[in-house]
Amino acid sequence: MPELPEVETIKEDLRELVVGSRIEGAEVLDVALVEQPSPEEFVQLLKGASIARARRRAKHLILELDNGMNLIFQLKIGGQLLLVPPVEEPNTALMFLLYLNGERRLFLRDGTNFSRARLLSEKELQERFSSLGPEPLEDGFDAQCLRQKLGSRKAQIKSLLLDQKMVAGIGNIYVDEILYDARIHPRRKANTLSAEEWRALYAAIRTNLAAGIRHRGTTVRLYRDVVGRPGEHQNYLRVFEKQGKPCSGCGGTVTREKISGRSTHFCPVCQRMPGEEDPRGEQRLRLKWTLGR
Ligand SMILES: [Zn+2]
Repeated sequence: MPELPEVETIKEDLRELVVGSRIEGAEVLDVALVEQPSPEEFVQLLKGASIARARRRAKHLILELDNGMNLIFQLKIGGQLLLVPPVEEPNTALMFLLYLNGERRLFLRDGTNFSRARLLSEKELQERFSSLGPEPLEDGFDAQCLRQKLGSRKAQIKSLLLDQKMVAGIGNIYVDEILYDARIHPRRKANTLSAEEWRALYAAIRTNLAAGIRHRGTTVRLYRDVVGRPGEHQNYLRVFEKQGKPCSGCGGTVTREKISGRSTHFCPVCQRMPGEEDPRGEQRLRLKWTLGR
């Protein structure tokens, strides 16, 4: 599922490979993709425009066109933007196709069908994005800013970090890694975090997202960059989908639980709930009992 680092990687690829291109035509292959305007208008507005700039806001990818419109993609769960060539022409799960000058085509493929696109003027775009929270990698975002936004909330810290109105761009993979790094249990209520924990959380958000970008994204299943390559950050994950495996920090066992409706991975030893017993004690007891039999 593309989160901030994956969308950032795709945006950089588009900046390098596609910005400056002229759109010679467009084809909507799955009308579910286009949320605004109508699919016919969508195609008409794209044809003949040039791509002036690529941007990202939260998990949204934005292609600024020279006709004043912005083409916005949300790749949701499994959307891939693939440039042909160098990628070989894909032929399954196609939702959208842009014909570019120089015999190139940009395909949107999505086996899950959840990807969505819109064409918006700058004003419409500003309005649509006005409720989004701060970009966590921008200079203005600091530990104080994070605490101010979330610190008085009684909700669980994991669900707050996933809320795009609180902080933009974090999804289910990075949030588990961030909370592990900060040694904070995902069920902790935000208003119970100490000043030290807010600082640790802030640092973990920055380092995990930056590492994700450095490694060109995380490919657990579907994510690919614009030339079809998987990312590499999956090789650096410590808890996400590591349930049953030893924690690299303490030797305890990573567990998985549903928290706020989302599959959540954490180490119950490193990320203890205040007031709960050290699960290592329990594990030791169990081992003794097993050995004793
Ligand atoms: Zn641990």
